[in-house]
Parts: sequence; C-alpha cells; structure tokens
Amino acid sequence: MAKKTKFIFVTGGVASSLGKGIISASLAKLLQARGFKVGIQKFDPYINIDPGTLNPYEHGECFVTEDGAETDLDLGHYERFLNEPTSQANNVTTGRIYQTVINKERKGDYLGSTVQIIPHITDEIKYRVRLLGKKNNFDFVITEIGGTVGDIESLPFIEAVRQMKWELGSDSIVIHLTLVPYLAAAGELKTKPTQHSVKMLLEHGVQPDIIVCRTEHHLNQHIRDKIARFCNVQPSSVIESIDAESIYDVPVLMRQEKLDTEVLNITKTPIENELNIDEWEKFLKRLKNPKATIEVALVGKYVELQDAYKSILEAMVHAGAENQVKVKVQTIHSESINASNADELLKNVNGILVAPGFGDRGIQGKIEAVRYARENKIPFLGICLGMQCAVIEFGRNVLDYKGADSTEFNSKTDYPVIDIMENQKKISGMGGTMRLGSYPCEIKPNSHAAETYQDKNINERHRHRFEFNDKYLKKYEEAGMIATGTNPKDNLVEIMELKDHPWFMGVQFHPEYKSTVANPHPVFVSFIKAAYHK
Ligand code: GLN
Repeated sequence: MAKKTKFIFVTGGVASSLGKGIISASLAKLLQARGFKVGIQKFDPYINIDPGTLNPYEHGECFVTEDGAETDLDLGHYERFLNEPTSQANNVTTGRIYQTVINKERKGDYLGSTVQIIPHITDEIKYRVRLLGKKNNFDFVITEIGGTVGDIESLPFIEAVRQMKWELGSDSIVIHLTLVPYLAAAGELKTKPTQHSVKMLLEHGVQPDIIVCRTEHHLNQHIRDKIARFCNVQPSSVIESIDAESIYDVPVLMRQEKLDTEVLNITKTPIENELNIDEWEKFLKRLKNPKATIEVALVGKYVELQDAYKSILEAMVHAGAENQVKVKVQTIHSESINASNADELLKNVNGILVAPGFGDRGIQGKIEAVRYARENKIPFLGICLGMQCAVIEFGRNVLDYKGADSTEFNSKTDYPVIDIMENQKKISGMGGTMRLGSYPCEIKPNSHAAETYQDKNINERHRHRFEFNDKYLKKYEEAGMIATGTNPKDNLVEIMELKDHPWFMGVQFHPEYKSTVANPHPVFVSFIKAAYHK
C-alpha cells in the first residue's frame, strides 16, 4: 500500500545564507535515523532552467547527480548527510516550471483556458512536490524554498505552499528559518526581524509551524517565549540554531533542540523507533580528534569563493576524518603560480590538488603546479580539468611535445593531447553538449587505482566535453604515464597515473560528488593517506 507522505517546507527570512540547506539536511538526517524514508528537494526561484549555465561566482559549485542533472550545491549536502543519491527531480527552478507549463500550453494541453500563475504554475509546483514523495514512497518530503520570503521571485512557491497546507492540514508543515541578531551595543538578542519576516509570511497566508533561529548567542526562555507569542507558535517550536564549528555538528545540535520530535508531534506521526546516530557521532569523534595536521594545496581559479569547490572541500573533510588527520586546505590561485615561485608556494604542502574548471584562465599556473608535484614526488590529485592539465604537462615536459594542449584552449596545437573525441562530437550535435552523470569505468590491476578502489568495475560522475586523445596513449604509456581506468564501452580514458611516483592520479570524472559522511570517497581517502605519509 502506498504510504501517506508528509510534506515539510523550509522557508527563509531576514537574510540569505542562513543555512536552509544544512537545516533541511540535518532534519532529514534525524528523521532517517529514526527509520523514516526521507527525500529532500530544492526549489530555486531563478529563471535559468538549471544552474549548469551559472558562473560559480553566482551560486557556487554546480553539483552533478547520477542521472546527469546539473543542480544546486545544496543537493551535495543532502547526499553527504543522507548517503542517498539525488536526481533531477530533487532540484527544480522557476525556469523549468515555466518551461514545462509553456510547452504544455503550446501542445494545447490546457484546452483553451487562460494560462495563469494560479492555478497553472502553482499546480506544476505542487505536482513536483507530490511526485517526489509518490515515486519514492517517502514518509517525508522536505522541500527547501530558495531565496528569502518577500522576494517577488519566490511568490509562486510560497503560494503553492499555502495551498498545500490548506489541502493537507497537519500532513504539511512549514519551518521558517530566520536570524536573531545580537546587538553588541545593547548587549541583546533582537527578535524584531524574526517577527517581521513571519508577518511577511502571514501576508501571503502562510503560518509557520516551527521557527528556527540562527543566532550567535544562546536563546534564553524569555526570548523563546517572546518569539512564540508574536509569531503564533508554541515555545517548544522555537528552535535555536547556534553557529557551529562544523556543518556536521548541526544534526546533533538539532537533536538537542528536539527539532525532529517537534516535527513528528506537529505532523501527528507516531514515534516508532529510537533515534540512532551512532555512526555519525563516531565520524564527529574522528573529525575532532586528529592525530596530525597536513596541508593540501588546492589550485584553482575561484579560490576566493568558499562555495566554488564545496564538494571537494567536504570530500577532504570526510577523507581527513577517515584517516584521522586534520586537512588544512591552502587555496592557491592558479593565476598566481609560475615557474619561479612554484617552489616557494608549494614546498611545504603534503599534497597538491588541481581543480576542475572551464576556459583557459590560470591554465599555465595549474600546469606549473602539476610539474612541481610530478618532479618533487608530492602526492597529486587532478580532477577533470586537473587531469587534463596533468596530461598536457606530461606531453610538454616529458614527451617534448612542443605546445601540447587541449583543443579547448588552442584548436591549432600540433599536439591535441586533450580533444573532443569523435563519438562525443555526435553528442554535441544533439544539443546536450557535455558528458554528464554516471558512467562505468574499468580499473587496471596493479595500479594505485586498483589499490584505491579495491574493485574492478566502478561508476563515477562526469561533467566535461574534452577527453584524453587516445591517439597518444601508446607514447604516454611508454614514457610512464598510464591509463589505469577506462570506459569499458568506448575506451575513453578515465584515470591517468604516473608509474614512477608515490601517488599521482588524474581522474576525468568528479569523485567529490560521491563522497559522503557514511562513505568517504576512496580516491580522496587514498590521496589524503598518501599526503599524510609523505
Ligand atoms: N573544461 C574541461 C572540459 O570541458 C574540463 C571540465 C571540468 O573540469 N569539469 O572537458
């Protein structure tokens, strides 16, 4: 029998960047730890069809799912916390909603009626919320509404929430995340911004059931009572979300604040199982009690942005905890590295990671970082563009291929060691211009890759257009750079390693997308282990 799914909406007020994604993922984790089946979904109010076309300066990293959807980075948090894959259905933008409705209109699906925001756009939103629950037989669907209440853009989403609350009663609740600022001059926490943002929600007909307050100082009972009184909620429904040392502390903090039991009470869900987050706590213990600290250089062109390499940074946290070492990431701007300062910048690091990316800005610096790692036998991990840079560097400096390059940067190079392969050209012709999502890879025995994965057949996620040009494979392998992972169907090279090096791996795919707290990614775990033992 199909289950009755309950729907939890998470909205935000007062300011952006309060951490709705982490609160949603933490609540999901707690419900999952009580044996419930939980799905999380993010609605983004912008008009882009997906974040794939967005510059990382806009919304940080683009997270890629198994089915090849280019999505918001919050889906990365959902996967890292829940250890369950997400898909296209977990991230919906205003652009996609409108595109669907307009396509239906063009096909005549609305039988001559006037197509309007209410009911057509709101129905499409509600359909997508319900569908996620129904398809997966979830007990709970948590839907995070991007943006801040009061934004013109998010109005249709808030209206859809109002309707669902009305239709479903206690099977649908709203958690509103706000900020309770501390005014140092007055020595006080201030509740007025929270009151105002709840009033704004009420103007749109939505009464929040639970208010989660981001704060730098503990909320005392007086503050909780005040917020409860002004915002029509029970004092027990005012939840403190204090600044945490690590995002991985938040589920534990939310358990202390009883966010999960509050949700279960309000949705009238019987509590059947005790909460069990033992594994999570073991992870936290390893994370917080490192035996040593190591330094890894992350070479990329968006290093001033915290969110641009989110999944890579989190994968290093997971791998650090697994090895019980603290990984200090030193971000180095690829444009700042050259042959004369590489030694000064990189001589003290235990490992070097060259980041993924698009376009030729900073490429020369990335190639210098690869050269430094190769020559000085420093553990090296190159991801996607980082792997391509490793191939270019080896071509130029070991094989003496003058001007070896990727055709992404120089279409006229004499040595197109990275190129668009014939079978990939066909894909571009059909409109989907990248190799996206999960593809199989076969691992060669007696390699770092084999030791890393302990498996012959693996699957990893991709997001790229260019590939290693296998015309050059023989020459590379003769000179000591070998393909230790290939796609079993079309032989595309997925992993390149140096024979004569303690740990040097370039991967065409993105291992960072699959690293979770419960399953730290083997490539990162091995890389950090090699860096630790350097
Ligand atoms: N720009 C390269 C390509 O398209 C690498 C992409 C990436 O690093 N994700 O193949």
